[in-house]
Amino acid sequence: MQVVLNWGRRYSLWVFNFGLACCAIEFISASMARHDFIRLGVIPFAPGPRQSDLMVVSGTVTDKMAPVIRRLYDQMPEPKYVISFGACSNSGGPYWDSYSVTKGVDQLIPVDVYVPGCPPRPEALLHGIVTLQDQIAAETPGRARARSGSRYADRPVSGAEVTRG
Ligand code: SF4
Repeated sequence: MQVVLNWGRRYSLWVFNFGLACCAIEFISASMARHDFIRLGVIPFAPGPRQSDLMVVSGTVTDKMAPVIRRLYDQMPEPKYVISFGACSNSGGPYWDSYSVTKGVDQLIPVDVYVPGCPPRPEALLHGIVTLQDQIAAETPGRARARSGSRYADRPVSGAEVTRG
């Protein structure tokens, strides 16, 4: 039964694109006809977080924006997944020493796949999606429960409390 659930989940990923800066343009490019990630079973531009399975954080995460990301992530139903797309959301990127930039969205929410680059090419996002789908295919009920009850549950939602680089 779990195999069937995993198969359905991996090929019907409704995406909530949390576009914050230049990387979001590459996300949009990946969803267009040339790269066409819909053929992988990914449905772009879900109406909102409550209808989404996958959040793609693409761009520079600021401390001011941090509580919003966390709140919208909390509104997504389980099982849910996160791709961090680009150097900024992975680690702060070129703004790693800025007073106002969060040094990685994984300080706020659990990340399943990191896509490197500044910006990453659309093909890199396709690779990240396939990597995530492979993870979902291997998911067990216990693993999903452990993930949802993760250490992130009590993470601060105030941007001012986010760890500085
Ligand atoms: Fe822009 Fe580079 Fe940051 Fe992407 S990683 S949002 S391209 S500065």
